[in-house]
Amino acid sequence: MKTWSDFEISQRRIVSNIQIAPGAYILKFRRNFNFLAGQVIALGVNINIEPRYYSIASGENDELVSILYSEKIDGKLTPMLSLLKSGDTVIVSNPFGTFTQVAPKPVFIASGTGIAPFASMCLSGKAKGATVIHGAPYSEYFYFASYFSENLGKHYIQCCSRCMQGSQFVGRVTKFVKSWTDLDTNRQFYLCGSAEMVVETRDLLISRNVPFQNITAEIYF
Ligand SMILES: Cc1cc2nc3c(=O)[nH]c(=O)nc-3n(C[C@H](O)[C@H](O)[C@H](O)COP(=O)(O)OP(=O)(O)OC[C@H]3O[C@@H](n4cnc5c(N)ncnc54)[C@H](O)[C@@H]3O)c2cc1C
Repeated sequence: MKTWSDFEISQRRIVSNIQIAPGAYILKFRRNFNFLAGQVIALGVNINIEPRYYSIASGENDELVSILYSEKIDGKLTPMLSLLKSGDTVIVSNPFGTFTQVAPKPVFIASGTGIAPFASMCLSGKAKGATVIHGAPYSEYFYFASYFSENLGKHYIQCCSRCMQGSQFVGRVTKFVKSWTDLDTNRQFYLCGSAEMVVETRDLLISRNVPFQNITAEIYF
């Protein structure tokens, strides 16, 4: 794992740090760098905790950088991060990462906070014709749902593993992909989330004849 000395860092004042669902937050600070949608930053509250990585969830031209994070109760950083208020400071690295190439009509498949880079790509106008498939346990964890619903309509698919039958698909993204009748194997597929979800989804796509080179992934570990 990298240490803080591997990064160019700056201290940023928090503009807001708001709980948007139980245990899930959006932290915002003023942008002092350019970035490509899909890139990440290292973030911390002090240099004694090793850097943690977070995808930027806002658009490339937005004045504020948004970071969507979920609190891990036994984690080192996020329980401290969630207590910070507007005016407090965080340590932020310059953006980095190569999960930034987006083909026309991409298929974005995410679980949980893995939706962040796809929100950034859509908000940056880089995802024309996108389909977004998002997995979450309950309705409140479909982050940016109103934005995606308004902008993608039926091409925004919520896979809710613990919901009762309703407007969402009931089940995980893997269950959806298994039975997806409109799956077009010529499209490019972008996966983001836990290692378990990414590996399972990639294997399923391959079993459904999507060429390996049409699949790109970012794993949150
Ligand atoms: C490229 C990338 C992008 C990411 N983007 C995001 C994002 O946009 N949003 C987001 O919420 N997260 C993201 N993450 C995950 C994020 O970096 C942190 O891992 C996460 O927020 C947890 O940090 P923490 O310090 O609170 O927890 P940690 O202290 O890292 O602990 C996380 C979990 O691991 C367990 N654990 C810790 N150490 C051990 C050990 N030695 N053995 C066994 N278990 C252990 C803990 O008990 C806890 O359950 C990303 C990760 C990567 C790699």
